[in-house]
Amino acid sequence: MTQHQRVYSCLHPFEAHVVANHLRHNGVAATVRNERLNRLLGAIPMSESMVEVWVPDDDVANATELLAAMAAIEATAGVAPDAPEPPTPAAPQCGHCGAPWERGFDVCWNCGSAL
Ligand SMILES: [Zn+2]
Repeated sequence: MTQHQRVYSCLHPFEAHVVANHLRHNGVAATVRNERLNRLLGAIPMSESMVEVWVPDDDVANATELLAAMAAIEATAGVAPDAPEPPTPAAPQCGHCGAPWERGFDVCWNCGSAL
């Protein structure tokens, strides 16, 4: 049976999958482990709740190189800014009294004006 080694660990399953996908795309049979334990983050020690990327022994050197290249790209690109929060739509308001408009009603619950 092929032995596997952990080449990457992080706190976010999404990140582990991005890494594993990148490795697989480059011919490394990477697998993500510990994903379910990760949901227990906070309930068990953090070191035991890391999501891990494992590769077969034969692919470790290749994977390490790919990860180093990835890290180098990230370093030059800078940390990607978090996606901006979608703007919260302004709560519709009654044009007459300004009370927040409740969806599903034809008249303002506050002043009775038609909406
Ligand atoms: Zn009103």
